[in-house]
Amino acid sequence: MYTDLSLYINGEFLSGNNRKSQPVINPSTLETLGNLPHASQADLDLALQSAQTAFESWRHSSPIERSDILRKVAQLCRDNATKIGRNITLDQGKPLAEAVGEVKSCSDHADWHAEECRRIYGRVIPARHPAVRQIVVREPIGVCAAFTPWNFPFNQAIRKICAAIGAGCTIIIKGPEDSPSAVMAIAHMFHEAGLPKGVLNIVWGVPSEISDYLIRSPIVRKVSFTGSVPVGKQLAALAGAHMKPITMELGGHSPVLVFPDVDVKRVAKQLAFFKVRNAGQVCISPTRFYIHDDIYADFRDEFVNILANINVGDGLDPETDMGPLAHERRVGTMDQFVQDALKHGGKVALGGSKLDKKGYFYSPTVITDLSDDSMLMTEEPFGPIAPLTRFNNTTDVLRRANSLPFGLASYVFTNNLQTAHTVSNELQVGMVNINHFGVALPETPFGGVKDSGIGSEGGSETFDGYLVTKFITQR
Ligand code: NAD
Repeated sequence: MYTDLSLYINGEFLSGNNRKSQPVINPSTLETLGNLPHASQADLDLALQSAQTAFESWRHSSPIERSDILRKVAQLCRDNATKIGRNITLDQGKPLAEAVGEVKSCSDHADWHAEECRRIYGRVIPARHPAVRQIVVREPIGVCAAFTPWNFPFNQAIRKICAAIGAGCTIIIKGPEDSPSAVMAIAHMFHEAGLPKGVLNIVWGVPSEISDYLIRSPIVRKVSFTGSVPVGKQLAALAGAHMKPITMELGGHSPVLVFPDVDVKRVAKQLAFFKVRNAGQVCISPTRFYIHDDIYADFRDEFVNILANINVGDGLDPETDMGPLAHERRVGTMDQFVQDALKHGGKVALGGSKLDKKGYFYSPTVITDLSDDSMLMTEEPFGPIAPLTRFNNTTDVLRRANSLPFGLASYVFTNNLQTAHTVSNELQVGMVNINHFGVALPETPFGGVKDSGIGSEGGSETFDGYLVTKFITQR
């Protein structure tokens, strides 16, 4: 049994009624799981109106009331993680343990927002005259429009929803049509937690049509998007034309710098397992490997050896380490990366093709000896492909790591304090992991620089994008 598929507008779940719809496909079996209704223009107008009406009262709700609802949602995430996770495995493909882990970790995100929303403080500025009082207050910005992708369908949606709702905003969200069950589950949880009608609205449809309509609407005051750089730039341009602030969590191309003073086998093993998480469809996935000359051969051999033993299969099978790619278009893109790498001197050390079975399964792939101008070293692969290259000079490897327009995550492995210090200062990224994988926690900010985005989610920064500053001076 999969999930119901509907719109959620003004506190009601809406489906059928001759709306257009699209099939939702299981990427492991290629079976149709259900039909997802598309929002008509009338549905979008209703979502906009109800979000605006709800904002008039929700903006005056107390932080305690908002916090209570977010806490209830956190508990519902814990209680329903297995059921929700199973549906994510069905429509997104990731192994069940990863899907359940995603949902459970989101109970922490909801709890964090429940705590932090009680601490949205203003300040008092000493005045120049004793009869004057000057205060700064932070108010919810208004109706938000959010667009979230399919790779972490639960996490990416709930973080935006908790930030908007915790700040006192209302929100219309268009989730990923390929993998909609996670966002449906979120709608049901907020409904059950007693969120007033209209505060959260869920719509589906043709992404470009929905985003265009919502961003242009004068009702929408803020735009938040997680997805690819080209789409992010389009939406940012449209939001800019209408003077609407944005939060953009876009793609990355994370450099991995492995210095010669580490336990090579241990690091190679950790990186291999991290690489295949969610079949590499992760914006912070390690994607450009720079391995010091002195340890290159040992690293490569261990890395390839671990990946060669990864079980690729249906995410519901407990033996599976890595599931399928989420949809067909990713398979074709993987092949393009491999073909281009071969043209740029690359050698396939492992994999390099789709698996010969039903479903969008791609082999864990390692490419060596390719040049820095190959597609794989310059564009985000967003799949289970790892290019390995060498370096022997810190200044030079930093130049190479910083040479792309992306700046999301990075990974450094060294036991030399000076190296760790220099490299973490010089990498042009939003997040530096040194000797472990430690980003995307509720209490830490997550975001990129350069083409990888604008703004942070999580941490004490999490409400910044959903608030406006008002100065009040009184005599
Ligand atoms: P895509 O760019 O077509 O879509 C990415 C996401 O954006 C999807 O969820 C899609 O529904 C949505 N989208 C696309 N056009 C939109 C529009 N005009 N308005 C609103 N939403 C829109 O690419 P794809 O094939 O689905 O995914 C592959 C690429 O997307 C990857 O290369 C990766 O860079 C990027 N991506 C990034 C993240 C992330 O976490 N930053 C997540 C998913 C995908």
